[in-house]
Amino acid sequence: MLHVASKAFFHLLAQNGVLKKLASRFGMRHPTSFARRFIAGETVEEAIEAARAIQTRGLAITLDLLGESVTDLERADVATREYIAVLHAVTESGIERNVSLKLTQLGLDVDKASAVDNLRKILERAEPADFFVRIDMESSAYTDVTLEIFETLWRHGHRRIGVVLQSGLLRSEKDLARMIALGAGVRLVKGAYKESKAVAYQNKADVDAAYVRMMKSLITDGHDPAIATHDPAMLDLARAWARDHGVGPERFEFQMLFGIRRDLQAKLVQEGYRMRVYIPFGREWFPYFMRRLGERPANVAFVMKGIFGER
Ligand SMILES: Cc1cc2nc3c(=O)[nH]c(=O)nc-3n(C[C@H](O)[C@H](O)[C@H](O)COP(=O)(O)OP(=O)(O)OC[C@H]3O[C@@H](n4cnc5c(N)ncnc54)[C@H](O)[C@@H]3O)c2cc1C
Repeated sequence: MLHVASKAFFHLLAQNGVLKKLASRFGMRHPTSFARRFIAGETVEEAIEAARAIQTRGLAITLDLLGESVTDLERADVATREYIAVLHAVTESGIERNVSLKLTQLGLDVDKASAVDNLRKILERAEPADFFVRIDMESSAYTDVTLEIFETLWRHGHRRIGVVLQSGLLRSEKDLARMIALGAGVRLVKGAYKESKAVAYQNKADVDAAYVRMMKSLITDGHDPAIATHDPAMLDLARAWARDHGVGPERFEFQMLFGIRRDLQAKLVQEGYRMRVYIPFGREWFPYFMRRLGERPANVAFVMKGIFGER
């Protein structure tokens, strides 16, 4: 219950303009500012630098240019051009070619056809350069449309794309079966959004139990499974399940967020597992940042210390 209440509280706070202004002013301005624990920087150069450091330690990366819930097509167009610029910068830099993006950043809330068009423009540049593009999953209001767009692209022959499913949603086990049948790569997460009981489990134990069930079928039957969690219990179960079913560490990967459980990230790599770090960057970092606080209220103390320390 606390889990749900804390998500709801931070969801409300995320819409607070004063807080956003305050955070934006102090959160990223110095290398030690509090938001930098979770966000690699505001520029692509900073993200590439972070990615290099992570790759040097033997981990893989995916870059996410932050932005979501765009409310006009002009902004969606700008976001699309910025993503294409990121593809160029990544190609030039020589780091791994892997990005994650959100469809509402490309205009899904305004006009679905334009968002699909924007995604196609990005894929037109990404695919010849052998990028992998993961479509992040947003709140349940977008699950159907995101999967529909993904499946359409898949059926049109796009293969360097992947999708995300959230164990917190009641529907997800069926969606997983559909994605496995399609042959598509799934990143499995618990889900970062506040959802109602009509569509989502409200107890963490149920979210975790669904995660375990989905993780097991993903590891044994899925394609390029990505087990994205910082939860040591899930990680133990995943390793044991894979081992017991003869699935080698080269057949799946773990994923974690930039700045979270770096100890576990390093440990898994030492043990011979593949670990990919999701590196968010960009000026539009506030909603992402608030979701990270909502997942772990202990982070708030650390942020408050940062704000008052800097003032
Ligand atoms: C690579 C990646 C991509 C993701 N993409 C999406 C997406 O597309 N859509 C979506 O809805 N969600 C996404 N998420 C977020 C995900 O849904 C969860 O909200 C998030 O991962 C926290 O859940 P958990 O599985 O780590 O487990 P939890 O049970 O929430 O946490 C387990 C432990 O992990 C650590 N931990 C977790 N979160 C934090 C934090 N914020 N700060 C510090 N420690 C923490 C703590 O030690 C905690 O006890 C993604 C997560 C990852 C790792």
